[in-house]
Order: sequence, then structure tokens, then C-alpha cells
Amino acid sequence: MAKKNRHCSFCGRPDSQVDFLISGVDGSEICNECALQAADIVAEHSKSNSNPLQLRSEDIPKPTEIKDYLDQYVIGQDEAKKFLSVAVYNHYKRLMQERSGDDVEIEKSNIIMVGYTGTGKTLLARTIARKLQVPFTIVDATVLTEAGYVGEDIESILTRLLQVADYDVQAAERGIVFIDEIDKIARKSDNPSITRDVSGEGVQQGLLKLLEGSVVNVPPQGGRKHPEQRLIPVNTQNILFICGGAFDGIEKKIAARLNTRVVGYASAQDAHSIDKKNLLQYIAPQDLKAFGLIPEIIGRLPILTYLEPLDREALRRILTEPKNSIVKQYVKLFKMDGVDLTFEDEVLDYIVDKSIEFKLGARGLRSITELIMMDNMYEIPSKKLKKLLVTLPYARSIIEKSSVNRLKTA
Ligand code: ADP
Repeated sequence: MAKKNRHCSFCGRPDSQVDFLISGVDGSEICNECALQAADIVAEHSKSNSNPLQLRSEDIPKPTEIKDYLDQYVIGQDEAKKFLSVAVYNHYKRLMQERSGDDVEIEKSNIIMVGYTGTGKTLLARTIARKLQVPFTIVDATVLTEAGYVGEDIESILTRLLQVADYDVQAAERGIVFIDEIDKIARKSDNPSITRDVSGEGVQQGLLKLLEGSVVNVPPQGGRKHPEQRLIPVNTQNILFICGGAFDGIEKKIAARLNTRVVGYASAQDAHSIDKKNLLQYIAPQDLKAFGLIPEIIGRLPILTYLEPLDREALRRILTEPKNSIVKQYVKLFKMDGVDLTFEDEVLDYIVDKSIEFKLGARGLRSITELIMMDNMYEIPSKKLKKLLVTLPYARSIIEKSSVNRLKTA
């Protein structure tokens, strides 16, 4: 082939106007820019023709595998773990069914988890997210308002999902959204508190649209929509929603319902078998309604599960057992300074006792440990120390001289 007069067979430009040309076997040539464009076209084509997540049934974790994974990070909460594992597994199956082509349609089963604050709802959601191959995000219902109020539009829930999916709409449309503090949008009139958000019911109506499955226009950067903004249409049909909330005071609604039932229909024996210390385990959809969720929302959250309150034993296990337990984290921190850190068992019991005493639950374990370790974390890196044992008298002296109020607001 002659060296002169080389040009791109696609755009026609001579080699003097491009960086370089790639030759084909028949003497035709392609320039660097046309080659890049061709690659984009190929990528675009394969994206629109394939399942964007490339799900294969053998890659999908089975419910028992998901639960085993959760067990490594979250103490207790067996029922919630089981419900979540099955829901996520079914979510995958539903995504795969689109390609199977028969008439039976598996509907999605959004979940609602009820449990006191600090019992592991968010931790469960975050942990499960690490195991997933679909986009996942956590949003807080408290920032939502209905149109016209200060706050964020309901649609912004999907903005985060779009962001984690790198704005790949097809991937986002198969994602999972965890909506935290769903109880904060309960209707005011049925609530124990009169100071709740005025817009509760309107927000619920807005949320209903997302849960039901519809095409929603999402502001790509979140916040409030404004007229000039370009909106991205997202179909929520296949998005799985997991909601969580503390539902403070819902035990009263449960107790009231159980009492009525016991008096009305069941035997006195039933009344005795009710575990009054943990009423959440009897939670039923009608309690959510009594709390102030509208029936349509409840209907769209067909899987209802609860989290156990964390007792002393659970808190003690949380300190040491999870894969990234608080104690393991401190040991690692000190190891990085070449120090072998150990805690006396009595110190761990003491941390649990203080957390219970100050009503801080699992969240308190970290703040109390942090306080006990602060002086050491400050001084040890400048000392040539190989070993550090944290003793009960030391831990006690630190906590006793620090103000209790400081811990309470931790
Ligand atoms: P919630 O969302 O129910 O209010 P979180 O999941 O945010 O509570 O829990 C707060 C912290 O307490 C977690 O980050 C974790 O360190 C600890 N924690 C709570 N429950 C558990 C649990 N069941 N197992 C292990 N750690 C827990």
C-alpha cells in the first residue's frame, strides 16, 4: 500500500489531520477518533441488549448464605435476618424472571422492620448492602416533605439510588432502597405526640407512588425540583423498598389490640402466654395503622418484621463477637502502633452496665469505650510500649471523673 494519501475510511480525514490511523487487512483505515466512537457504539449496544446486572442464578446468594453473612456482623435479630434474606433472594429471582417469559409474575414484597432505635436496623441494611450485586442506598424519611414544604421532595429518595448506580437508570431500576425512620412520617392525629411533622400524610401519599411502582421524574442532584431542571424518569416497578422505624409507643397499640383479642375471643391461657416485656414480637399491620401509617402504605409493605430489644447478654456479645466489633477495632488501632491491647473481662461487663445505666443501648458501647481509651490513644503513640491491659479500676476512674451528661448526649 502506498504510504501517501492515507486517510480514515470512516470520516475521510487524511492522516495529517488525525493522531494516527489503524490499518485493516484490505487496506482500509480507521482513525483514533472514529475507533473511539465505534467502541462507544458497541458499548451502548451491548448495554441495551443485555441484563445490565448480568445476574446468573448460580451467582445469587441463597437466603441461608445471606443470613450466615449477616450473622458475622449483627448479633441476634434472627427473625429480621431471615425475613430480609428471603426478601433479597426473591428480589433477585424477580429480576431474573423478566427473561423467563412465562405468565406468572412474581410481585415484589417490600419490607417494614420495627424495632427500638439502636437495635441494628440500619446495621442490617448496611451489612446486606455489602453482599448485594444491585445498587443499594439508605435514605432518611425525616428529610422528606410533600411538595410546597421546606425539605426534600419524595423523588429525591431515588436520586441517591441513581447516584450509586452511576446514573445507569436500568441498574437503578433494579436496586434496593432502605428508608429509615419511616415512623416519622406517620399521620399526626393518631400519634402519641402532637408535635409531629404536619405533612406526614401527604408524604405518605407521595411515597405510595414509589412503593406501588410507577414512573417517577427524579431530580439528578436531589433536593427540591425546580422548573428548569432536567429530570430523569425512573420506573420503580422493580425497586425493592425496605423500611425501618422505631415506632416509639407502638407497644401501647399492640397491648390494646392483644387485650381486646384476649378478652373477646381467646382463652385466659393466651393472656398468660403473652410476653409483656417484648410486645413488638406480636406486631401486626393494624398496629401500624393505629400508629398513623395509611392503610395503602401498609398494603404496599406486605412483609412486617421486628427487632428484639438488646438485653445485657446481647450488648456484651456486640462488644466482642461481630467481625468488626468495637473491641476488635481498638485492638487493630493499637496494633498499628505496635501495641498489644487487651481488656479485662470485667471492663467489658462494666461498659455494658454503663451503657444500660445511661440508657444508651448499643450506640453507647462505642462512646463509653472511646472515653475509656481516649487518654491511651493520645499518649501511647509517643511511648515505646509493647502491651497495654485495660483494667477495671482504670476504666472506672475514667468514667467516674467524666460527666455523665456528656455520655448521655453522645
Ligand atoms: P437502628 O438503625 O436500629 O437505630 P443501628 O443499626 O444504627 O440502629 O445501630 C447502632 C449501632 O449499634 C450499630 O452501628 C452497631 O455498632 C450497634 N448495634 C446495634 N444493634 C446491633 C446488633 N444487633 N449487632 C451488632 N451491633 C449492633
